[in-house]
Amino acid sequence: MTDFPDGMVWLVGAGPGDPELLTRKAERLIRSASVVFYDALVGADVLDLAAPGVRMVHVGKRSGRHSKDQGTIDKLIVAAALAGERVVRLKGGDPSIFGRATEELDACRDAGIIARVCPGVTAASAAAAGLGQSLTLRGLARKLVLVTAHARAGEELNLDWQALADPDATLAIYMGKAAATAVSRNLILAGMPPETPVALVESASLSNERHFHTRLDLLPLAAKAALGDGPALLMVGKAMAERAGNSHAMQHAMKV
Ligand code: SAH
Repeated sequence: MTDFPDGMVWLVGAGPGDPELLTRKAERLIRSASVVFYDALVGADVLDLAAPGVRMVHVGKRSGRHSKDQGTIDKLIVAAALAGERVVRLKGGDPSIFGRATEELDACRDAGIIARVCPGVTAASAAAAGLGQSLTLRGLARKLVLVTAHARAGEELNLDWQALADPDATLAIYMGKAAATAVSRNLILAGMPPETPVALVESASLSNERHFHTRLDLLPLAAKAALGDGPALLMVGKAMAERAGNSHAMQHAMKV
């Protein structure tokens, strides 16, 4: 294949979980890889697309449970490419959003390896689709802010709360489950109204997807009570106000 010679690396976005949300390019690249390095959030249905006998290497990281550090992952990818493999590095969602893509691209380029990126559907898009809502809303949500609320163990979350407390924005907060209390407190302290709508979406696009609507001041309670083990997004802003009858769950509830 002309765009995937031996010794090349593709960083491929695996999307939010549902294999039908892969791009056709991602699917083709996965099928033609000779080795696949994948993250914890990449689902089994996506991994099944690889050719039989292909080496599948789990290099997953979930917060608090780092199985391989970034330097090790970089080295593994580079070594595989230098050995002449066609390397797919599969990442959840879009590789360029909270995906450490730059480190891996730089490591490849430093070793003289050609590395390219295949984009993917990011979790915020899948979450909005699951809610049946738009991330932007004419006149009310003119901005979409993708932000991570992940802090290193034992460190304070260091975000510009003043800038985030923007009444015209939708905040899509990645890796925010553990920080729900800090997010709520700091945004309210920075002037965001306590009744600002919040949507919580867990396992977007997967069969166990769940969503909940709450308000900013109740977010800590809601996150604790409602969220399970799956990856989750906290989505804050006027565009996230509950709208009758538009989510999957609602439609399902109405049918039964
Ligand atoms: N590159 C990924 C994000 C990686 S950070 C992307 O573009 O989506 C990992 C965080 O993404 C998780 O902690 C969670 O906040 C979010 N996430 C990933 N998949 C998700 C899903 N299916 N549903 C909800 N949130 C998800």
